[in-house]
Amino acid sequence: MTATLKLLAGKDKSIKARHPWIFAGSVSDVSGRAKPGDTVDVVASNGRPLARAAWSPESQIRARVWTFDPNETIDHAFFKRRIAAAIARRDALPELRAQQGLRLIHAESDGLPGITADRYGDTVVVALTSAGAEKWRAAIIDSIYKASGCARIYERSDASARSREGLAIVTGWCMGEAPVEALVIEENGVRMSVDIVAGHKTGFYLDQRDNRRRVGELSANKRVLNCFCYTGGFSLQALKGGASEVISVDSSGPALATAQHNLALNPQLDATSAIWHEADVFADLRARHNANEKFDLIILDPPKFAPSAAHAERAARAYKDINLQAMKCLNPGGMLMSYSCSGGISVAHFQQIIADAATDAARTTRIVQRLQGAADHPVDVAFPEGEYLKGLLLQLD
Ligand code: SAH
Repeated sequence: MTATLKLLAGKDKSIKARHPWIFAGSVSDVSGRAKPGDTVDVVASNGRPLARAAWSPESQIRARVWTFDPNETIDHAFFKRRIAAAIARRDALPELRAQQGLRLIHAESDGLPGITADRYGDTVVVALTSAGAEKWRAAIIDSIYKASGCARIYERSDASARSREGLAIVTGWCMGEAPVEALVIEENGVRMSVDIVAGHKTGFYLDQRDNRRRVGELSANKRVLNCFCYTGGFSLQALKGGASEVISVDSSGPALATAQHNLALNPQLDATSAIWHEADVFADLRARHNANEKFDLIILDPPKFAPSAAHAERAARAYKDINLQAMKCLNPGGMLMSYSCSGGISVAHFQQIIADAATDAARTTRIVQRLQGAADHPVDVAFPEGEYLKGLLLQLD
């Protein structure tokens, strides 16, 4: 028999608003036996059925909702339906149809908490991060394999979130065999290699696809500084767009090595205009300011400084610091493309941080475009945490 998770009185509001997380502080009791990942019936304090969710006893998020229809059965067919629907949503968007690198499943925002799947050509990389996703692993892998028509699936279930769920790290091929050749995708007319085994996340930051293209549009004859360049996604688009010089900075040697390999994969680009620099961006920006270096376009795409709201204050200081230093290095009329991918920093908070940096830099700064993740990283309005990537394109006097 399915166990029942009863909410405390007054704690059913967020579920009624179709938010999929049930925190420990909202749970009254669980009756019946539930093992990690088992499906539980979620009921209000008066016993009214609300949803079906996956039980995560070790996490502060005690349960993640699979369905808000209390009568829907959670079985192999459920995952088949949800995964097919996620892929169909991408197929419906013309700009996504021909992408070689594409996020097929974006976890909560696709109604599949704890499940991420990225497609690189005919290889799919799957990351499972919750007890519920782990329990249904076989059904999920099988459904992705069939619905995507891919040749092989690699599992990268190594995110730190797994330890919060009491799950061990799992990586390896689970469908098909390792390809003989290194994986290369074409994105916005540029070839990029993707290291699905050792790269960050599933190997590549697909969410910045449209924003990289935007950098290309803005780069003609510009001196560009790409901070936190990883494997050079923004840098190569800047070169493609005709930048006079592109300096790329990252603290990771392996990422920079891949970036240079990526440049070599694109002989149409002018490699003599590219400079790669292994350094800490905080120190590097200061040094450039002290040396009175100036740029026309600076990109700041740092890692997540605030994984949750609890880290927001410290993260805000770090964001302000790099934005202030970058503003000081911009020529009059220069542009700053600045991001936060921290779940703990809201769009409004990020804009305030930029405003504070502009005040200290004594530079009039105008927002010319708000930036977000690409369409294969949708945001369910019931789940604002899904809007982790926020960016501003700024023009400075
Ligand atoms: N813009 C990239 C993704 C950036 S991911 C893209 O389009 O693909 C963040 C990068 O920041 C990682 O490559 C990481 O190695 C780097 N990084 C993290 N902390 C850093 C620091 N203090 N200084 C320089 N690089 C840093």
